[in-house]
Amino acid sequence: MIESILSTLGKQALQLATKEAWRIASAHWSLDSRMGDVNRAYNKVRGELAEVGLLADGVYLDDIELEVAFLPSYGEAGFVYEQTGWLSRLVGYREGVIYLPRDLPATAFVPGGTLTDTIRHEYAHAWHWLEPDFFERPWYSKAFVIPYNEVSASPAEEWHWRVERSRKFQSSLNSCRNDRERMALYRKTLRDDFVSEYAATLSCEDFAETFMYYLRYRNSIDRFSSRPGVYKKLLAVQKAVTTASRELGLQ
Ligand SMILES: [Zn+2]
Repeated sequence: MIESILSTLGKQALQLATKEAWRIASAHWSLDSRMGDVNRAYNKVRGELAEVGLLADGVYLDDIELEVAFLPSYGEAGFVYEQTGWLSRLVGYREGVIYLPRDLPATAFVPGGTLTDTIRHEYAHAWHWLEPDFFERPWYSKAFVIPYNEVSASPAEEWHWRVERSRKFQSSLNSCRNDRERMALYRKTLRDDFVSEYAATLSCEDFAETFMYYLRYRNSIDRFSSRPGVYKKLLAVQKAVTTASRELGLQ
């Protein structure tokens, strides 16, 4: 009995390993044909950063490189190590570099998100890596409440605490007739405050998702005036970008 269980487990493990090896190999084969998309998206975002004044030849975010990692995605659309441990250094990862998984997942965390959105999002983390002191200034906690590096508190918890104490929210909640309406109210209120559900997980992700939206909609931010929390954060990011750019002499 035990032997047959072990043999089944062994077969399953072998199947899994084969599937994984195939996934890694096919990510390598198909990469060449997709490098054009990566370069186009990277250059597009670099152009946007130059336009808003965070990048110029040899200046500030121009230092940030992008590489395609050796391994395919294990759920992440892209990543930046702000601090590398010995293991990540051993396999060749460097701090402050934007990495995309080998299989280049097309979807970012917002609905309709693209490779360009992933790169926009990762630039936000790279910016923090480049100048963490800038994020210690009052603008950050005013807009995002929880400090950038704080991982023991989530924006979703803070948000929940805040709406539960809001009279306006409570009176809307009381006028809901069933769970369906109550759920819709929660969803709408969350949408008013966060660019995406992922943004509500950690303060640094709230900033990165908001920064991605800021770059995407930098010429039409007023379209978010009907989502008051999101709008306020976008305006705060816009102001912080202008300040940084002025201090860098890029504006
Ligand atoms: Zn992120």
